[in-house]
Amino acid sequence: MADVQLTQVHKAYNDVQVLRDINLQVRDGEFMVFVGPSGCGKSTLLRMIAGLEDITGGTLAIGGRVVNDVPPAERGIAMVFQSYALYPHMNLFDNMAFGLKLAKLPKAEIDQAVQQAAKILHIDHLLDRKPKALSGGQRQRVAIGRAIVRKPEVFLFDEPLSNLDAALRVKMRYEFAKLHEELKTTMIYVTHDQVEAMTLADRIVVLSAGRIEQVGTPIELYEQPDNLFVAGFIGSPRMNFLPATLLRGDANGAEVKLANGETVHCAVDAARGRPGSTVTLGARPEHFTLDARENRIDTRVTFVEALGSSTQAYCDYPGLAEPLTCQLDGRSPVRTRDTLALGLPADWCYLFDDQGRAFPRLARPAQAKAA
Ligand code: ADP
Repeated sequence: MADVQLTQVHKAYNDVQVLRDINLQVRDGEFMVFVGPSGCGKSTLLRMIAGLEDITGGTLAIGGRVVNDVPPAERGIAMVFQSYALYPHMNLFDNMAFGLKLAKLPKAEIDQAVQQAAKILHIDHLLDRKPKALSGGQRQRVAIGRAIVRKPEVFLFDEPLSNLDAALRVKMRYEFAKLHEELKTTMIYVTHDQVEAMTLADRIVVLSAGRIEQVGTPIELYEQPDNLFVAGFIGSPRMNFLPATLLRGDANGAEVKLANGETVHCAVDAARGRPGSTVTLGARPEHFTLDARENRIDTRVTFVEALGSSTQAYCDYPGLAEPLTCQLDGRSPVRTRDTLALGLPADWCYLFDDQGRAFPRLARPAQAKAA
């Protein structure tokens, strides 16, 4: 077991900076997820920790030891890739045992390690099979098994579920969570899928364009995003952003005016806000109500998706790039072309200044996932 510490790490290919000012501690035993849109640098960051990419500047320490110049095999890490990279001519046992045989471990020790990993991953009945006789999920398990037998101090996973279909991804997500619970080893997991990040992580690192936007528990990122980027990235369906003007604000709240003239009270600390300035009201689809008791917003429904468990209503509102999305109870009697008087509780208003920085919400965050 080991922590991973990155200090002022940056990465450039020739003169193109792809990662900058990376300061981060992944704690011993933590499940840390790197998430961000394609091209933000998350795989490069993981590959630098693995030793597959050079570090242009800064320090990387694993378990307190600086490893900038230590080869991958001596870093105490094991990496699992999106492509399983199994040897097609070897059966599962040999695929999993390969690294240990190379390291010339005694046969009995190899046998025991492979059997134990196969059991954890529920593939112990398949050890004689070749990879081509396995499903995608089973192949991914073999790739994970190959990492487990090495007993690494840190596991690195690079989009391990990307090649699987939607149903299998959900199942494997659960298996990853269980695996971490069982092994309690430090794990760093890269994905572009925010749902995967939210469900697996102790803490999430949100990256954008080579920088860390925010680090926090899933609930912290949902409840207190630092900026528009994180607010828009975390949460599904996506947060609505409504252009607004700040009427007044202090440490106890803010009053903003929307494009249609409605005044909305927000439970945020807006002490640093300038009256008259442009702000953005953030409203998560799941926080709208149909009773309009608090913060009434008038809209017209353009499209409805009845999903059974919930109803998604897409509505017109001036100044929005995309329709205003509301997630309502599955039995809400809402139809296309209805006019709706929506409510938005002040406690669930998010507010961002003209630079996209969040005003802190006053509502107490829910209990964060235990570290
Ligand atoms: P992500 O994993 O978030 O999709 P990557 O880490 O793969 O992003 O890439 C981050 C950025 O670095 C991208 O803009 C990509 O084009 C660039 N990049 C990655 N590898 C190389 C390389 N070998 N040479 C030049 N640029 C690269």
